[in-house]
Amino acid sequence: MRVGIAFLSHESNTFASFTTALGDFEIVRGQEILEKHAATYHEVGGFIASAEAFGVEIVPLFGADATPSGTVEAEAYGALVGELLDSIRAALPLDGLLLALHGAMAADGFTHADGETVRRVRALLGPEIPLVVTHDYHGNVPPQLVEDATALVIYKTCPHVDQRERGLQAAELLARTVRAEARPEAAIVKPELLYNIAFHNTGSGPMKQVMDAAIELERKAGILAASVAAGYQYADVPWMGPSVVVVADGEPALAQREAGRLAELMWSTRDELLPRIPGPAEAVRMAMASAETPVSLFEMGDNIGGGSAGDSTFVLEELLRQGADGWVAALYDPEAAAACAVAGIGAQLTLPVGGKVDDQHGPTLTVTGKVRALHDGMFIETERRHGGKREWDQGLTAVLATCEGLLLLASVRTPPMSLNQLRSAGILPEQQRIFVAKGAVAPRAAYGPVSARIIEVDTAGATSISRPPEAYQRARRGLYEWTRQAR
Ligand SMILES: [Zn+2]
Repeated sequence: MRVGIAFLSHESNTFASFTTALGDFEIVRGQEILEKHAATYHEVGGFIASAEAFGVEIVPLFGADATPSGTVEAEAYGALVGELLDSIRAALPLDGLLLALHGAMAADGFTHADGETVRRVRALLGPEIPLVVTHDYHGNVPPQLVEDATALVIYKTCPHVDQRERGLQAAELLARTVRAEARPEAAIVKPELLYNIAFHNTGSGPMKQVMDAAIELERKAGILAASVAAGYQYADVPWMGPSVVVVADGEPALAQREAGRLAELMWSTRDELLPRIPGPAEAVRMAMASAETPVSLFEMGDNIGGGSAGDSTFVLEELLRQGADGWVAALYDPEAAAACAVAGIGAQLTLPVGGKVDDQHGPTLTVTGKVRALHDGMFIETERRHGGKREWDQGLTAVLATCEGLLLLASVRTPPMSLNQLRSAGILPEQQRIFVAKGAVAPRAAYGPVSARIIEVDTAGATSISRPPEAYQRARRGLYEWTRQAR
């Protein structure tokens, strides 16, 4: 059995001030996919492992991904999907295809780019060849995608730590379909909710009961996959919002009924979805007053893993204003990192940091400190962490020690998914009192184990959790969050 594997993954924040170009994508082809991904916790690692587990021949085709950022440029999308299709065409005949897509890619001209990708892949494969797609839990799934794919499997955890298992699940589903042991029939139901990212944690709160129900459903006879996507509120697209996707074996009515039941359960949590999260001044006061340390402050408005700038200063400004000490904060600021490198280790300097990418993420601040470390920014994460990424590169990195805290200045936007981001630059997490991590839920996988307490912070920015409905133009108007506000 010859099974093609490919991925084309991007989470596109349509509120970001910058677009995503072809050069922002890391592209891997053929055997490189196996070399780069076999050992990862990403679902492509699961696809690769399926060769042995289910006795199939894996044909690695094409892969591209980029750090979450703005809308993908039309030219970039055209080139990427074009190469994906060429790689599939060149590998035919295939018995099946496994395709990992994020689910929240928005390109110029294609608001639901993943739906367009699946449409084109299906047109190339024809109606018979099984095509199993995987998605991130933050996908905004358009119903047409579920029609065009044979089956869709979505991560069940946030932070995302089950990606490899979902890859294996998708591969098993595909192998059984090719062998005519299963006949996937998929149904999608979309509750009319904006499911705020403040409630995306699958280990607690209203989402836990929904996800537990999906996991239980998947154990039932006749159900091949049961998925719940929370959606991605930072893409203003028609199908923004949560989705329930159930795949039943040969029974479309069962899939439809169970998807409806889970969607109803999700809908029943709608009045629990009101975030009550402190702003930066209060959050910093809480952190400083905390008897238990270290405290992690999660800066939700500058969620780099959600496509924001990475150089927000709202929390840093409060730390400086309130005289907090023992903090460590990372900022994307290539200019400041370069200035530190020129000054050299041990040099004392005063320089402007942060707030440079756009006007959404706070003022540029002036800080004084000593260059404590310089690093090429490469690090490896071997533990199971959100996103499953192993090899990281945050570019030239400087650590500036101020009187009160440590500022890590990176040259590449790097979401805080690994403590090795700090350790590789000589910062020992165990010795800090306050961490500032730019994210909402995802950094919990890395920062949870070393934090006595996590405090979410409601800050402005491209990933603000408090964006008013007027800011959206394409999303469906009747989403409950907004109709409740209008009452
Ligand atoms: Zn996600």
